[in-house]
Parts: sequence; structure tokens; C-alpha cells
Amino acid sequence: MKVIFHKRFYEVYTHDPAALPGRMEAIVNALQREFEFVEPEPASDRDIERVHGREHLRSVKGDDQVYEIGCLAAGGAIQAAELAWQGEPAFGLIRPPGHHASPHSCWGFCYFNNVAVAIKKLLSEGKIKNALILDFDLHFGDGTENTFEGSHEVTYVHPGGSNRESYLKDLQGSLQRGKPYDIIAVSAGFDRHEDDWGGMLTTEDYLSIGKWVRQFSIDHCQGRRFGVLEGGYNHSVLGRNVKSFLQGLSD
Ligand SMILES: [Zn+2]
Repeated sequence: MKVIFHKRFYEVYTHDPAALPGRMEAIVNALQREFEFVEPEPASDRDIERVHGREHLRSVKGDDQVYEIGCLAAGGAIQAAELAWQGEPAFGLIRPPGHHASPHSCWGFCYFNNVAVAIKKLLSEGKIKNALILDFDLHFGDGTENTFEGSHEVTYVHPGGSNRESYLKDLQGSLQRGKPYDIIAVSAGFDRHEDDWGGMLTTEDYLSIGKWVRQFSIDHCQGRRFGVLEGGYNHSVLGRNVKSFLQGLSD
């Protein structure tokens, strides 16, 4: 298991909860003794343009810092996907998040759809023919849904439920429809935690989710699995939640 991280993700590139100071530090502190860190290369404009239109790319380029860190975040997702494709599970510890970034617009603290850029790159290179994207962030990833709408190659699932039990049951159920995929990607947002905005899941639940994804990947995806960070805003629990998920996801 490798963690993809760049020190530029510490930068406070804008004023929103995903960009707050201390957020990345909390996660790095929790992970650095247990996991090997590697640094990403920035995604190229060509990589970004597999998902986003020219106008959207141009508008993000209007802010140099957001554009540069956004390209590093997308590059981090690409590297996590590449490692997973080669057989090593990986996690992109990246920001800005991406799942609210659609081909021609974005909102919700997102600019480029990191997981979509990564999956599109593997598809375009012929390394995979299909993919499953599981999104357990509190919020629906409209950007990811819009990117792959009508796609026969990529399935996007965002489990739901009105309480912890029904949510976990729905998530587990979404991993039991036994169709094989060439890779599973996880949009890992931790804002559904009991001490975060969603007020629902425990830290232990993220360990369980990680284990379910691991087992699904072994049964249906040749073991290929990776995650990328989306939301998660309570710095006092975020580090241990990410760590719990990665402990479940790793071998
Ligand atoms: Zn969220």
C-alpha cells in the first residue's frame, strides 16, 4: 500500500473547508509511520481534457495556485490508479477533492475530477476496459456521475441509507453484484463520520469498508484497488478515519 502525497497539498489555496490549514497535517500525522509515501507528478492538460472541456480548464487556469495544485491532485489520482493497475493498492492523499467537478463546471470545493481523470487515462491507454467507482463520501458525486453518464465502461455507485445499519447494508450490497471489473476506485470522503457533518459512521466502519473493497477487488478485479480523498472536515478524527480505511484496504 502506497500513499500518494505532495507537500504542496499543505498550501491553503482558497477559503473552503477542504483547503483549511491543518487538514492534510492531521492525515499525514496519522499515516506516516505506517505507510510509504510517494510524490506525484502533475497531470497534464491532455489528461485533464479527457474529462473536462477547454473552457472549464481555462477558467481553472485563471488562478495559478489552484491550477497547479489541482493538476498535482489529479496527478496523484493517476499515480494511485497506475500503482493499483500494476498490482499495488494505493491511496491518493490529495486536495482539492474532485467528485463535484463535472466536464464543464464545478462546485463544492472541487475543480478537476481526480478519480475520473485517472480512470479515463487507464481506459484511453487500453490498460482497462471497465471500472467500478464506489463513492462513500456523504455527498453525491454529481461530477463523476455526469462524466460517466451513459458509459458502458464505468459504473458509479453512491450508496445511501437513513441510518448507519441501512447505509452499511446498501454499501455492502453494492459490492455483492458479482460483475467483474478491471479495477475498483474509491472516492473516499470521510464526512459521513459520527463526529463529522454526516453524523453516522464509526471509525471502525471505515476499516470494514476497506476490507469489503479489498475482498471485492480480489474476487472481481484481480486485486486492483485504489482510493482518493474527497471530503472529511473534522481534523480531530479525520486522520484516524483515513488510517482505518487504509488498514482495511491494504493486504
Ligand atoms: Zn462530502
